[in-house]
Amino acid sequence: MTQFGVPVPLRACCSGRGRSIHIWRSHAFAILVLFFGVGFADTLADAAFVSTKEVEMDAIFGQASFGLNPIDIRYLPTVTYVDPNLLNINTSAKLSSLFSLAPPPLAHNVYFVDTVDWCSGFNTGIVGCGSLPGNDFVVESGYASGSSGAELLGHELAHNLALGHVGNNSSQDNLLNPVVGYPGPNTTALTVAQANTILSRPTVQTDISNGSLYIEIQPVLIVASLVPEPSSLALILGIFGMSTLGFRRQRA
Ligand SMILES: [Zn+2]
Repeated sequence: MTQFGVPVPLRACCSGRGRSIHIWRSHAFAILVLFFGVGFADTLADAAFVSTKEVEMDAIFGQASFGLNPIDIRYLPTVTYVDPNLLNINTSAKLSSLFSLAPPPLAHNVYFVDTVDWCSGFNTGIVGCGSLPGNDFVVESGYASGSSGAELLGHELAHNLALGHVGNNSSQDNLLNPVVGYPGPNTTALTVAQANTILSRPTVQTDISNGSLYIEIQPVLIVASLVPEPSSLALILGIFGMSTLGFRRQRA
């Protein structure tokens, strides 16, 4: 892999256990296959998978702390990269490569992988990691699909939005507690001060149609290969057949 450009210090912070150090964004690009479409993701073998938890994410970023300025969380269509080396993030170099995959947009990139064992250091208890502040975060797709998935996604997005932890081993019930699901009962709470920090960030956009606020998230799916499974292929053919039937009915 070729490295170029001036290294940019990237602060990363994690869920599970949090400590801040500096890692270096390498601007290294592998040759990758890229295509669009949420539906095709279901046909991939040895793949991470996307969980958006959009309803719960809207609740987190629209909670009472935001007052009259709730933020709507919107997801763009999933982008998929084939790279088996990036399914398991266990080194600083892999994390830097992952966070260099998608171009820095006004949106936040959320990468779905199998395991995250590196953030500010190696620890198998880590389930997510996000730049602080920045546009990139990564989650374990299995954890993100579970009952604490929205808290994990919201926690890492909040790091991108310049919020640090409320303290290591903190007993404070807050979205930025470094341990997901701890201590409860309101583990997704944000203070008014935290909400105001989020509202000041440049990626909080205004919908020109009605003046409401939103944040755009770009799901990026990491997969090992593009091997369609027979059942999924049959489903695709079935959908094609149905649409053909619909077209014929329209003409009739
Ligand atoms: Zn964290």
